[in-house]
Amino acid sequence: MKDHIQVDLKEQIAEVQIAAEKWTPQHALAWAFDTFGNRVAISSAFGAEGMVLIDMASRVRRNFRLFTIDTEFLFPETYTLMDRIEEKYGIAIEKVYSILSPEEQERAHGAALWARDPDLCCSRRKVEPLRRKLSELSAWITSIRRDQTSARSGSRRIEWDAKFGLVKVNPMVDWTTKQVWRYIHDHDVPYNELHNQDYPSSGCTHCTRAVRPGEDPRAGRWPGFAKTECGLHIIEPVAASPVPDASKAAKFGN
Ligand code: SF4
Repeated sequence: MKDHIQVDLKEQIAEVQIAAEKWTPQHALAWAFDTFGNRVAISSAFGAEGMVLIDMASRVRRNFRLFTIDTEFLFPETYTLMDRIEEKYGIAIEKVYSILSPEEQERAHGAALWARDPDLCCSRRKVEPLRRKLSELSAWITSIRRDQTSARSGSRRIEWDAKFGLVKVNPMVDWTTKQVWRYIHDHDVPYNELHNQDYPSSGCTHCTRAVRPGEDPRAGRWPGFAKTECGLHIIEPVAASPVPDASKAAKFGN
């Protein structure tokens, strides 16, 4: 049964995938909400682009689903921002937790797992909860951008997420940092206070530091490790497909 549903979903996105490369983020959001109804949700860690996406969504639909993976290791500023989002946009953020509390994780894997094996820690606190959440959805919406990391450079605006078995919508995939911040200032969008303290990217307190002038914006994530992704947006080899060039996409413009 699940296989049939997945085939239907894949056919659905095959019809629009190329045209979608020319869509605005708002168009992609409207398509996702119209197509999947209550079975689509925005996933956010409330970075700058995530805040833009939430603000755009609020202008496209009054009620939309928004969830976050709460590792229980987030910065106080991030929890404060969550409260502001719920108040400003009138929504309840769906918070998803690891099945292991921080204390249970320490008993199972020893102290400070993040300092010894961050991949395992992310797997326990981020990937497993995300997989559980996505199992109840047909599609998820993210704010990833191609220029953030090499792992994200091949992302499409609408794609099949082979890792989690559902449709993935990335409305802001071709946006730049400059566009993000222009939107934030133009629309008075709330954002994480950490961004004013040289944290371009916020994550868990244990694995994030401020960046120094001239450093890559993601240099503050997992300092001391080669790791650049927590595993949520790694494309499985079977799903990898080239980003169509603009001239081909234009022929299917919508
Ligand atoms: S970012 Fe760090 S603390 Fe957070 S889940 Fe991953 S390894 Fe653990």
